[in-house]
Amino acid sequence: MGSTADTYAVLKELLKGSGAEVLMPDSEGYEESIVRWSEHCIKKAHAVVKVSNADDISKTLKFVKEHKIPFVVKGGGHSTSGSSSIDDGLVIDLSKLRKVSVDTEAKTIKAEGGTIWEDVDIEAAKYGLATVGGTVNHTGVGGLTLGGGYGYLTGKYGLTIDNLLSVDIVLASGELVTASATSYPDLFWAIRGAGQNFGVATSFTFQAHPQPNPVYAGPLIFLPEKLPQIVHLANKFHTQNDGNQAISVAFSCPPPSNAPVILVQLFYNGPEEEAKLFYKDFLDLGPVANMASMMPYEKLNTLLNHAAGFDGRKQFGGGAFKLPLNPIFVQAIHGDFVDFVNAREQMGQSMMIFEIVPYEKMREAGNEEMAFSNRGDYYNVATIFKWFDPKLDDEVREFSRGLLSRASQAAGITPDEKVRSAEGVGIYGNYANTDAAATEIYGNNAKKLEELKHKYDPENLFSRGLRLVPKAKVVVN
Ligand SMILES: Cc1cc2nc3c(=O)[nH]c(=O)nc-3n(C[C@H](O)[C@H](O)[C@H](O)COP(=O)(O)OP(=O)(O)OC[C@H]3O[C@@H](n4cnc5c(N)ncnc54)[C@H](O)[C@@H]3O)c2cc1C
Repeated sequence: MGSTADTYAVLKELLKGSGAEVLMPDSEGYEESIVRWSEHCIKKAHAVVKVSNADDISKTLKFVKEHKIPFVVKGGGHSTSGSSSIDDGLVIDLSKLRKVSVDTEAKTIKAEGGTIWEDVDIEAAKYGLATVGGTVNHTGVGGLTLGGGYGYLTGKYGLTIDNLLSVDIVLASGELVTASATSYPDLFWAIRGAGQNFGVATSFTFQAHPQPNPVYAGPLIFLPEKLPQIVHLANKFHTQNDGNQAISVAFSCPPPSNAPVILVQLFYNGPEEEAKLFYKDFLDLGPVANMASMMPYEKLNTLLNHAAGFDGRKQFGGGAFKLPLNPIFVQAIHGDFVDFVNAREQMGQSMMIFEIVPYEKMREAGNEEMAFSNRGDYYNVATIFKWFDPKLDDEVREFSRGLLSRASQAAGITPDEKVRSAEGVGIYGNYANTDAAATEIYGNNAKKLEELKHKYDPENLFSRGLRLVPKAKVVVN
C-alpha cells in the first residue's frame, strides 16, 4: 500500500480537468479550507476535495469506498458537533457550488449545495422575492435545510423544508437523483429533516414568496431587572402575533464589562408605524439601547452576524419551552446562566436564546409528513456557549445540557413523552448533539428512517451526522 500522498494522487488524477481541487496539508489554501465556525471543529483532514459538480462527488464517493477512507461533507461549516470536519480522512467541500438562480415566473429559487444564506437572500431580493432562510446569513443552506430550517419568515411560510420543492442529491451509490413529491418521494420524505444521512445535495429548489417591502427589525437591550416584564410581554406576544412577527429573548454578558444584559430581537414584516405600535410595550419598557429600524429584507439576516462570528470554541444546544413562561422560573435559569458564564474566563459572548417564532403555520404539516419531527405547541430554546480554553470543553457541554433539560422539562417535554408524543419531540435536530438517539430527534419516524437508510445507504456511508442506525450496524466510515 502506498503513502497517503500516493493515494490522493490517484484521486487528483480521477478529478483532473473538472475544476475540482484536492488540497493536502502543504497546499496553498488548505489552512483556510479547514476553518469552521467553531474552533474546536478545525481538524487536520488528510485532504480537502473542493468539488465542482455532481460528477466529482460521485467519483470521490467511489474513491473513498474503494480505499475505505473516512470522510465528511462540508456545507457552511457551522455544525458544532464536528460533523463537517475530520482528522483522519477526507472532506468533500462544497464551497465551489455557490450559484443561485431565480425563476421569476415560477417563483422558485435554485441554490447549489454549497451556498450560504447570504447568496440566496441577495439574489432573491433582486426580484423582490425571499424564502425561509437562516437568521445568520453565513450559515450554510445545506446543513440548515437538510435538518429543517427556522427563519424570520417561518411564522408566515413554515419551515425551510416546507418550502423545499426538490433536491438534487448524489446517493451513496454515486448516482445523482432528483428527490421531490413525485420523484423518489420516500427519499424526499427522509431528506426533509434527516437529509445529511442520505447523500450529498448538489442543489435545492425552494418556493419563493413576494417580499417587496422593507422590514422592521433589530435588538433592544435591557438590564436584567426588566426580565419579569419582558417575560410578561413575551407571553402576550404568543397570543397577539399573526405570523408576520417574531421575537427572541436572549441572555448574554458581553465584554468588556461582562455585565448581564437581556437582548430582545424584534422582527415585523410591515410598515414602521405598524411595527412600532405592535411593539409599543417593549419600546416603552426602557431599553438601554434600541437598534431596531427599517431595512431591506436581505439585510435582516445580517443583524446577528457579528454576535455569531467565527472565533472561539462553541457549543450549540437546543431544547423547547412553552408559553406562558413563569417569570420566576426564567429568572432562575438566567441566574444559573450568568453565574456559570461569569465564573469562567472569556465566556461573556455566550448566549441563551428563547426563540419565539410563531408556529401555527409550521404546524399545518404533521410530524409524520416528513422526517422532521419537531412540530408542536412549543418554541425552541437554544444555547450558544463560546469560550477559548480547551480545558472547559467538557464542563461547558455538560452545563449546556443540564440547563436546556431544565428549560425543556418546565415545558412539560420529558424524554419519555418525546417518543410517544404526536406533539413533536421537543428538540430541533440541527441544535442537537450527534450522539442523540434517533428516537430523540425523529420520534415515531425513527423506524421508517432506519428502513430508508438501509435502502439508500446500506453501508452507512453518510454516518457523521445524527445517527439513524444502531452503532453495531455501522460498516464503513
Ligand atoms: C450562528 C448560527 C446561527 C444559526 N441560525 C439558525 C437559524 O436561524 N435557523 C436554523 O434552522 N438553524 C440555525 N442554525 C443551526 C444550523 O441550521 C446548523 O448549524 C446547520 O448544521 C448549519 O449548516 P452548515 O451547512 O453551515 O454546516 P456544516 O457544518 O457544513 O454541515 C452540517 C451538517 O450538514 C451536512 N451538509 C451540509 N451541506 C450538505 C449538503 N449540501 N449535502 C449533504 N450534507 C450536507 C454536513 O455534512 C453536516 O453533517 C444556526 C447555527 C449557527 C452556528
